[in-house]
Amino acid sequence: MISQEVQALKNALAGFIAAQRLIDDPLRTLAYGTDASFYRLVPQLVVKVVTEEEVSRLLELAHRFSTPVTFRAAGTSLSGQAITDSVLVMLEGDAWRDYSVSEDGSHIRLQPGIIGSQANLYLAPLGRKIGPDPASIASCKIGGIAANNASGMCCGVAQNSYQTLASMRLILADGSVLDTGDPASREAFAASHRELLQGIDDLVAEVRANATLAGRIAHKFRIKNTTGYSLNALVDYSDPIDVLQHLMIGSEGTLGFIAEITYRTVVEHPHKASALVFFEDVASACEAVALLKTEPVDAVEIMDRAALASVQDQPGMPSELASLPPTAAALLIETRAGTVADLDGNIARIQSSLRPVNTLCDVAFTDVPAEFDRLWKIRKGMFPSVGAMREVGTTVVIEDIAFPVPRLAEGTVELQQLFARHGYDNAIIFGHALEGNLHFVITPDFGDPGEIERYHGFMDELCHLVVEKYDGSLKAEHSTGRNIAPYVELEWGAEAYALMHRIKSLLDPQGLLNPGVILNDDPEIHVKNFKSMTAVDPLVDRCIECGFCEPICPSRELTLTPRQRIVALREHARLQAAGEDISHSSLFTDFAYAGEQTCAGDGLCATRCPVGIDTGKMMKQLRAAGRGGVGRKVAHWVDGHMAGVTAATRGGLRIAHASSRVLGEVPLERFTGAIRRISGGRVPDWNRWMPRAGKNHGPHPVVKKVNGDISKKCVYFSACVSRSMGTASCDSESRDLIEVTHSLLQKAGYEVVVPPRMDAQCCGMPFSSKGFTESAQTAVRRLEDVLWQASEEGRLPVLCDTSPCTARMQEQFEKEIKIYEPVRFIRQFLLPQLDPVVQVDSIALHVTCSARKMGLEEDFIAVASACAKSVFLPEEEGCCGFAGDKGFDVPELNASALSRLKQQLPEGCDQGCSNSRTCEIGLSRHTGIPYRSIVYLVDHCFAARKAVDRS
Ligand SMILES: Cc1cc2nc3c(=O)[nH]c(=O)nc-3n(C[C@H](O)[C@H](O)[C@H](O)COP(=O)(O)OP(=O)(O)OC[C@H]3O[C@@H](n4cnc5c(N)ncnc54)[C@H](O)[C@@H]3O)c2cc1C
Ligand code: SF4
Ligand code: SF4
Repeated sequence: MISQEVQALKNALAGFIAAQRLIDDPLRTLAYGTDASFYRLVPQLVVKVVTEEEVSRLLELAHRFSTPVTFRAAGTSLSGQAITDSVLVMLEGDAWRDYSVSEDGSHIRLQPGIIGSQANLYLAPLGRKIGPDPASIASCKIGGIAANNASGMCCGVAQNSYQTLASMRLILADGSVLDTGDPASREAFAASHRELLQGIDDLVAEVRANATLAGRIAHKFRIKNTTGYSLNALVDYSDPIDVLQHLMIGSEGTLGFIAEITYRTVVEHPHKASALVFFEDVASACEAVALLKTEPVDAVEIMDRAALASVQDQPGMPSELASLPPTAAALLIETRAGTVADLDGNIARIQSSLRPVNTLCDVAFTDVPAEFDRLWKIRKGMFPSVGAMREVGTTVVIEDIAFPVPRLAEGTVELQQLFARHGYDNAIIFGHALEGNLHFVITPDFGDPGEIERYHGFMDELCHLVVEKYDGSLKAEHSTGRNIAPYVELEWGAEAYALMHRIKSLLDPQGLLNPGVILNDDPEIHVKNFKSMTAVDPLVDRCIECGFCEPICPSRELTLTPRQRIVALREHARLQAAGEDISHSSLFTDFAYAGEQTCAGDGLCATRCPVGIDTGKMMKQLRAAGRGGVGRKVAHWVDGHMAGVTAATRGGLRIAHASSRVLGEVPLERFTGAIRRISGGRVPDWNRWMPRAGKNHGPHPVVKKVNGDISKKCVYFSACVSRSMGTASCDSESRDLIEVTHSLLQKAGYEVVVPPRMDAQCCGMPFSSKGFTESAQTAVRRLEDVLWQASEEGRLPVLCDTSPCTARMQEQFEKEIKIYEPVRFIRQFLLPQLDPVVQVDSIALHVTCSARKMGLEEDFIAVASACAKSVFLPEEEGCCGFAGDKGFDVPELNASALSRLKQQLPEGCDQGCSNSRTCEIGLSRHTGIPYRSIVYLVDHCFAARKAVDRS
């Protein structure tokens, strides 16, 4: 239900914000409203904003209609600070991503919609990075990083957003804009906001006059602390505008909107080494931490025995893990340097400093990337491991406290005792030891009132322990949210807490910015509004709603992300379990399009998911469940008549191509666009990038016997899509992929075996993606038999020219057949047999989802780099959204996924390459340059090797 105030606000917003960016339907408000915490509030209205002016006017109207507003970046917050039951303001996908880097890389200006790791990619060529380094940096956005003052393994208290802030553009609750980096804006603001700035001045003066309070504030920020507001601004700065911009850091959207931030960047050293060191107990590990504090270390991660046990049985883990004593602990130490010599020097210093401490193993560093990654896999695998092993229906709670470093050992042991007292037997502890910052993970079932009571009792005892015995922080880096709001006064004391209330009143007098977050009068707010984790299906039940999968999903801007799909399914399951008939509710009916139909099924979400969930599989399962008898029969018929269907497709494309020549491309595009609208989207529209018909190479193309050398013999399987589709209608290249592949193989001196009855073969991908699992299975088994024979029972390598089909074969084949995707085959077998003849200037690369999943990105780049002077990779790593034939059925998915590609193409880049014919159609359409298989590029750039003259 939408309240009168929110409805009034919505009506007013409709005057300047497009209707599709004002969202109040039950499905999307629920789905967009979720964050990574274990709390749920459903917004009444979601507004996607594009410009500062919109935010400014929205805030003025929120003031007029007394409507609370919550800002949202990526929604990966863990403490319940990014949710609301009022108005949620989200950043529209393509907007808020502007940035600039100073020439020397010392500063970066960023809008709040940029993902943290992307900012680091902008800085990488200059050997710099941003200071804040939360573990969620590949998903969370600058707005959230700054507003939470997030930090991670290396940044400590010296390189967080507060310490590295240079200037900020911010929008206050009254809608006014201040650019603290612009003297004119500062001056104008000082004139227009005299009273506000005087209020800040007064606070600064008061704190400075109170030495005890000023000392306490300074002391509390010596270790990591994100509980309450950044009161250190009142001690560290005198100019009220400087105080104001630093108060914004860590204010969780409760004081204003961060529209832009300029950071001072930090050095990113190119050389690094790590060592995993085991200790008898936590006390010895912490003794080592104290010694390391003054050594050249960049990260020191502590792990208790339970944390080590959570990963010890996983593949690739060191065998020593399993035999460690029950009290053991480990430190993972990382050091970085600008040169190899400096790195060696660092290692020697660290080893020498640890000599006085008893360790269970040598302090052995490695700088070999594979070994180094293996060590970090142990640390990074702990949280996912607990997430994956927990019981269905339970929640993953990650807490985040800090003890003063000298008392870390004592605090850790008391924490372990606290778990035992409250029955959290599976709790694990790990964290950033150099800062005294510990994370622990427990998995309560908040569906059970007894569990809520237990959690409540545990939190009370924990907070009193951390504050009263250790004077530690209750939130070291995850920010207060609703989770720790009841304990802010406990941690800070009445005087400092009163300051926080005065800051809030000065900047948000009506209390409309994210109310209830940081400051909350309800002492039980942290045990209210829990999310339901109702069981849906084993495919998705382990989801912790972290949001890590969101940036890679092609439907993220069009409809829903993987996390949002799962949230919706959980809500369906919860309502059904409560006996509600949801079949006519839009929460359910809207899901058919938003959840199921617009999922590309590429499974890229699984590559980002800490617990390995492939939401695409879930969507395909739903499709399969919804496929009635007629559809199944058609699929079965198609499977049995593949040769005819391929020929018919070729025929259809031939007619379309001929029509375009007669009618002209533009009129045909308009005509088919109209037909598509009339048919309710059932007929695909035609565009000039649609393929010509592939040539009929016949069922038994000639087998070229070159020299009988078995090492230069392969099977070539062309996928049905390559057999039916040629190059684009408007492309100057008219050879189809089969011709070009044969040409390249011949140049490399390969003898090619073409499987019999090739026109009737298919890997089953088109059936599988539509949920016709039976037909998909029949097709793939038949193909496996054919390729088994053609490859002389697995002796010969099989080259498939299409990447998704290769991935499916690799996944589904039970026999040992060596299936290659073109880039790996070209790099491994063909390039060594060829001579380069020409390099193109620039090529745009699209690494398909399946190629990414097969780990072929590096091969792709290597092959493209051999052919082009410059290789362009787009910022978005995700799927192009064409997804087999979805680009014809649901073209808006493809358009949405590729909406930023054209603007990113470097000047002069006039061709692109990929490895999937259908993806290439969409890529060409949305960039205006031809994308072809990479085989064309290699065929163009390489020639048969010249015989070496040995005379
Ligand atoms: C698995 C996991 C691991 C994590 N690891 C870490 C870690 O190592 N360290 C760490 O610090 N955190 C960590 N986090 C928490 C979280 O990812 C970070 O705090 C992150 O910075 C939040 O950014 P976000 O873009 O998701 O922001 P959101 O969650 O969308 O928002 C965060 C807060 O900022 C406010 N906000 C958003 N945009 C603006 C804006 N433009 N102006 C003003 N206010 C705004 C919101 O209202 C909200 O209060 C982790 C989370 C998960 C799920
Ligand atoms: S599917 Fe995986 S990555 Fe996505 S929200 Fe769930 S747990 Fe996180
Ligand atoms: S399979 Fe692809 S489209 Fe579907 S949810 Fe996963 S990433 Fe998104």
